[in-house]
Amino acid sequence: MSVAWPTRLDEAVDAAAATPGATLLAGGTDLAVEVNAGRRRPVAVVALRRVRELGEVQITPAEVVLGAGMTFSAIAAELAAAVPALAAAARTVGSPQIRNAGTVGGNIATASPAGDTLPVLAALDASVELSSTAGTRTVPLRELITGVKCTAIRPGEVLVRVRVPPARGAQQFLKVGTRNAMVIALASAALVVDEERRTVACGLGSVGPVPVRPVEAEAFIAGEIDWGRLTVPEAAVARFAELVAGAARPITDHRATAEYRRHAVAVLAGRALRRSIDVISA
Ligand SMILES: Cc1cc2nc3c(=O)[nH]c(=O)nc-3n(C[C@H](O)[C@H](O)[C@H](O)COP(=O)(O)OP(=O)(O)OC[C@H]3O[C@@H](n4cnc5c(N)ncnc54)[C@H](O)[C@@H]3O)c2cc1C
Repeated sequence: MSVAWPTRLDEAVDAAAATPGATLLAGGTDLAVEVNAGRRRPVAVVALRRVRELGEVQITPAEVVLGAGMTFSAIAAELAAAVPALAAAARTVGSPQIRNAGTVGGNIATASPAGDTLPVLAALDASVELSSTAGTRTVPLRELITGVKCTAIRPGEVLVRVRVPPARGAQQFLKVGTRNAMVIALASAALVVDEERRTVACGLGSVGPVPVRPVEAEAFIAGEIDWGRLTVPEAAVARFAELVAGAARPITDHRATAEYRRHAVAVLAGRALRRSIDVISA
């Protein structure tokens, strides 16, 4: 097996193009598991860890642009103010070792329904930049993730950056699992309450093959919030949670039943909403 260690982005893109079928390696926290289990046998690897551009972040009033190689630890440390829900999601991932190695780009490219950054990025209407020797294209996350562990990333493409809007109002990320740490989400919810635009955006994880946006629930609750006083009736929160449950498409597996997941995600969304209103009204 050949391993390329590019240090610049153009070298990484060239290396990915030079060996058809080359596997990109970022933190290795998903890939190594696949290799160890015998599910993947890379013939050639392009290691991205030394590519400095992939670890960079730019925060402007208009946009936050994260390098795909940003680790969960870096996101938690550097983006707590700019993208609080993403920082909160990053803090819940695995253990310190996993957070120090695992990257947002790897989380997106793996496209697991339980990927913790995905509901946040869905709620934020994130888009990603993909580069290859053919050029660069920008793809909305909702089009990039096409199914369970399936993406529209083409062979030879490197996920380079993730673009999200900067925080306005309040953001929350909540996750439930079978224990408190080192746990795969059974259900997760991200909520973005934008006080300025008077909108609510919600992303749900682990309750569908791709991150779910409960658009009916979002529109309903945005119409129920008293944006002047920053209050919301408890009956409206309950209806919001019901609509969220209705939008979820969970499965039953060895971790949880579909019924439990549907109930849990509704509780999380209602809780995230109450917390968001508390934050912006404080
Ligand atoms: C013990 C343990 C606990 C975990 N806990 C969690 C958890 O709580 N929450 C969670 O969401 N995940 C968890 N994970 C999964 C994993 O850590 C994340 O999905 C992580 O984001 C993967 O990133 P990585 O950099 O390690 O990717 P890698 O393993 O290096 O790569 C994963 C896939 O993405 C591709 N890839 C990587 N970078 C790029 C790029 N820039 N462009 C294109 N393709 C790319 C690779 O080719 C590969 O197919 C856990 C894993 C382990 C082993």
